[in-house]
Amino acid sequence: MDISYFRSSSYNCWELCQQQYFLKYVLGLEDGSNLKAELGSTTHKILEILAIQKKNLQEGKDSFLVDDPALETLKKHKDIFQEANVLSITKSVFDYYKERSEFDFGDTEFKTVTKYVNKALTFKNGIFDPRNLKIVEPETYFEFPIEKDWAKLANGDYLKIRGTMDLTVERFPLVYECIDWKTGQIKDIKNGKLKDFNYFNDDFQLNLYFYALCKKYPEIKQFIITIFYIQFNAPFTMAFDRSNLIKTEEMIHKQMEEIQNCTQPKLLNNWFCDRVCYFRKNGNNTCVRIKNRILKEGIDTVTLEESIKGHSLDFYQSPGG
Ligand code: SF4
Repeated sequence: MDISYFRSSSYNCWELCQQQYFLKYVLGLEDGSNLKAELGSTTHKILEILAIQKKNLQEGKDSFLVDDPALETLKKHKDIFQEANVLSITKSVFDYYKERSEFDFGDTEFKTVTKYVNKALTFKNGIFDPRNLKIVEPETYFEFPIEKDWAKLANGDYLKIRGTMDLTVERFPLVYECIDWKTGQIKDIKNGKLKDFNYFNDDFQLNLYFYALCKKYPEIKQFIITIFYIQFNAPFTMAFDRSNLIKTEEMIHKQMEEIQNCTQPKLLNNWFCDRVCYFRKNGNNTCVRIKNRILKEGIDTVTLEESIKGHSLDFYQSPGG
């Protein structure tokens, strides 16, 4: 199977189900959206805009210099800390997503988004409120080749890592914190167990973020990574050290080889398939159809014939870790 880059979502997808990885990241098939994910995106966008407002103030600019199509109906307020400012951003962003969504964005959903934003802003007197923080970069994008022999691909390029971290802030001089908001559950989909510090110590997303931060900001001495489960008032803050860089490369190397050597992706085949996965629920037979085609015709033929036209293994889809 071909691979040219890793994002945390592609890595985690492979860990969950190889077949889903093949459908999404090799063939480029869309896996549909859902209301919960869209409410999560709406919440992220509101927090991102508050961070941009704060960064503008830090740089002596008008806080409302935010170039974002989701702010079409924004009403300006003098002070970004005014409740009316947050409400106005929330309304504008909510309406933007509502217009583009196939799902019902009604009063209940508006309340849900307002509740998520409020929880993120008020937790422990606002220690994660972007307006209280020294913003380095909202939506911190990264893309780096891994310049190691093992990461060299057949075409001569190096395997890349890429992604977007929700927010990078400076906590103290030469100490940066990356904050990643989550609006979903704290449970591991694979086994239903609650995630804890041991889980996050080995979590690819957090290790990848640490790796990316070290590369992106080489002058910074210490990085802290916080993953904040907003619904549950549950932030997990990790302080990795440089040994995690080796660990992250080992994780990438191992999975890269697994993917490259795979000719028949394994299927997860549990409750998740019928209840959650787009490729099987509601009578969708894509998962099984493609599995049978690979069995009969081989993965190369299926890749060639079933890939979405214009899809590239090198594509980038925002937002995403
Ligand atoms: S239906 Fe199940 S096995 Fe098939 S792609 Fe989805 S998660 Fe994987």
